[in-house]
Amino acid sequence: MISKKLSIAIVGAGIGGMTAAAALRQIGVDVRVYEQAPRFARIGAGIQMMPNSMKVLRRIGVEERVIHTSFKPFSHLNREWNTGKVMRELPMPESLFGAPYLCMHRADLHDALAAVFPEEIIHLEKKLTGLEQSAGQVTLLFADGTRAQADAVIGADGVHSVVRELIVGPDEPIHKGRIAYRAIFSSSLLNGMDIGSSRTKWWGADRHIVIYYTNSTRTELYFVTSVPEPAEWVTRESWSAKGDVKELRKAYEGFHPDVRAVLEACLDCHKWAILEREPLPRWSDGRVVLLGDACHPMTPYMAQGGATAIEDAAILARCLEEVDGEDFQGAFRRYEAHRKPRTSRIQAISSANTWMKGGDEDTSWLYGYDAWNVPLTPLEPYFKAV
Ligand SMILES: Cc1cc2nc3c(=O)[nH]c(=O)nc-3n(C[C@H](O)[C@H](O)[C@H](O)COP(=O)(O)OP(=O)(O)OC[C@H]3O[C@@H](n4cnc5c(N)ncnc54)[C@H](O)[C@@H]3O)c2cc1C
Repeated sequence: MISKKLSIAIVGAGIGGMTAAAALRQIGVDVRVYEQAPRFARIGAGIQMMPNSMKVLRRIGVEERVIHTSFKPFSHLNREWNTGKVMRELPMPESLFGAPYLCMHRADLHDALAAVFPEEIIHLEKKLTGLEQSAGQVTLLFADGTRAQADAVIGADGVHSVVRELIVGPDEPIHKGRIAYRAIFSSSLLNGMDIGSSRTKWWGADRHIVIYYTNSTRTELYFVTSVPEPAEWVTRESWSAKGDVKELRKAYEGFHPDVRAVLEACLDCHKWAILEREPLPRWSDGRVVLLGDACHPMTPYMAQGGATAIEDAAILARCLEEVDGEDFQGAFRRYEAHRKPRTSRIQAISSANTWMKGGDEDTSWLYGYDAWNVPLTPLEPYFKAV
């Protein structure tokens, strides 16, 4: 617990911002979250939560809210696109990495996060447009003309982060020239077909598709793809963009009958542009720090974007607790020193899209990581070396 009364404003009520709010409240910080959206919508998408993020969610009371309703895949299963031959399978019992592997609806994860703290701390329709730092305080400026003040600010405002732009400078995310189609729908549309007890990734030469159930009753399933997109299609608000299901089916012609059956059953779909960034030169400036996609957006191919945002939240809370809320710059630099090597490694592997494609590379460094207990990186060697 921090002994001094400290206020922290979090910009963005996504997975990272909500986890940070819960983790900081546990150490006694007065937290307020500012979100640009007017309300939380039930976006049609699934999300995989790996054991590394589940360990963080356990300590903040979220695991117990999702564990009984989520789908627990037997394994991380990788198959060849047409024959279905197993390229690599990793059974994921809870005993392997000390936490479960769960798949769920994104909105269920968000609801569970929102349930662990009072809703009054979230301020909707607050689009951040500017920040002013002066002695001992940060002022947040919003599009509606209002202002707020806090001792420090966390930018958890996603891949198009305004906070990142304000403290690191403007640039555009890298568009991978690929899009992700996605759909979530009732298993009854499969006419009795079972997609199996694993989360399956079907690997083609230049495209793939990941398919899993999103609830324990297996009444709902989800798929997400990665396909080349000739046009430079990119959108800032990509959650609601519709895809063409006929184009999608065509893109997966020749895939295994199980994949085609899922795509035939799906009535419509959405699409996302796949974006990433190179690791940033720095994650903080004075009393302002970044977290999640705002500082290390990655391709979704390892299912670690949300997970690493969740890990960030736990490590940031630990670093702030260590300095008892006094030395923000020290805490933020230590957080970056600890997190950046790991997130940069994940960004690079995710970008190459090689994770679990075959072979038997070690997975324990990724899934076995425990953000609450891992020793924090000493500050000095990291900052002397770079
Ligand atoms: C196809 C796909 C599949 C994925 N699958 C997985 C998966 O299975 N597992 C996993 O761990 N990750 C997955 N990810 C990655 C994951 O979705 C992201 O990494 C994660 O959502 C990042 O969380 P965040 O809180 O940093 O940002 P976001 O979730 O983007 O949240 C940012 C929030 O900030 C708000 N905001 C933005 N600008 C402002 C502003 N100026 N003022 C106020 N509020 C603002 C936004 O409205 C939003 O609510 C996937 C991503 C994609 C694209």
